[in-house]
Amino acid sequence: MVCEILAVGTELLLGEISNTDAQVISQGLSEHGIDVYYHTVCGDNPARLSAALDIAKRRADIIITTGGLGPTADDLTKETIAAAFGKRLYCDEDAMKRLRERMGPGMTPNNEKQAWLPEGSTMLVNDWGTAPGCAFYAEGCHVIMLPGPPRECTPMFRQRALPYLESLNDGVISSNYIKIYGIGESSMETMLKPYLDTLKGVTAAPYAKEGECEVRVTARGRTREHAESLCRPVVSRICEILGDAVYGIDVSSLEEVVVRGLTERRLTLALAESCTGGLLAKRITDIPGSSACFGWGCVSYSAAAKERMLGVSPATLAAHGAVSEETALEMARGVRALSGADIGLSVTGVAGPDASEGKPVGLVYIALSHAGGEKVVAMPSRYARDRARVRHFAASAALDLIRKEILR
Ligand code: ATP
Ligand code: MG
Repeated sequence: MVCEILAVGTELLLGEISNTDAQVISQGLSEHGIDVYYHTVCGDNPARLSAALDIAKRRADIIITTGGLGPTADDLTKETIAAAFGKRLYCDEDAMKRLRERMGPGMTPNNEKQAWLPEGSTMLVNDWGTAPGCAFYAEGCHVIMLPGPPRECTPMFRQRALPYLESLNDGVISSNYIKIYGIGESSMETMLKPYLDTLKGVTAAPYAKEGECEVRVTARGRTREHAESLCRPVVSRICEILGDAVYGIDVSSLEEVVVRGLTERRLTLALAESCTGGLLAKRITDIPGSSACFGWGCVSYSAAAKERMLGVSPATLAAHGAVSEETALEMARGVRALSGADIGLSVTGVAGPDASEGKPVGLVYIALSHAGGEKVVAMPSRYARDRARVRHFAASAALDLIRKEILR
């Protein structure tokens, strides 16, 4: 099935906001094996919206609209769509009841308009705002209308529109995401291609993300269990082929894997960050529950901070510089001693844009100190494209070092 996403809103055309609803919807549809061929954006103008609908209904099996479901005069998506499909609006009793409950005494006559839907619609309950969504089938096309505000549109799409679309299909789709760190997209494809070419009935799509890769495995089955059982052997085989580079299946991030792994092993971590300036601590504390394994981090950006907070020796700094294996190791030892944590992890490197101490942009040393020993690795400077990327990759490399050394 082919879907077109039709965003309604003059503020999108004026460049005041980005069409993030379309991005979220496209991502979700692609996960469910539904192709999106067009994103269309149209202002709050009935004639132009009608014209856009005429085109969309000829080239798509599904039209998902966003925006213009609210109570004000410029919210005219439903009226215009109903007219474009030759439908009248009816007052949906259930929608009206929910609207009254939600609005209470603040309900105004123009709010009532939100309960009026095109004839033959399935109402999509909006638990995140006032305007319900709706869906109907006409002229060979499924039309789904969702509210514009992203905090409503995203859950309405995931929890209302996707189940509605799934109910139209025979069978159920199941997907798994294999997360990969440490090999590039092209090496990954080369390793996987011979196997992926043999697959039938299950699709495996490789993607590159910021310094990482991902393979999405999708299958359609009679039931959820059936679809899952089709994916399982494919996921196992891909993990075998990629080996150690796979850091998780259906996990959100390296930091999630690290926080979960340390917590399960009852290990604590302390950080000494130089070039990442706290980014590593930020990524770890993005994970709910990280306080179980993480309590200490310091940003030791200057030589003085490395000496006074972490006890890095002035002789080491003078002989090898701040960006060196030796300094990285002393930082990791220092923060471990200072905090009493099981593991000390440090990052020191050249984030750029200029080289420093005669060392190239992107050269980063990461050191680990724990009861089992010490380890220091260099992140190669080939990642050096800009400051933000060097810092992001350095934090990822540090997380991956914990995964490989401690959580294996
Ligand atoms: P409301 O009840 O708030 O009026 P609505 O369904 O009528 O909701 P709009 O009036 O079109 O939606 O948009 C409301 C707000 O939602 C916009 O001002 C904008 O901030 C946001 N919004 C609308 N469309 C999009 C979009 N495609 N992507 C991201 N944000 C959007
Ligand atoms: Mg509105």
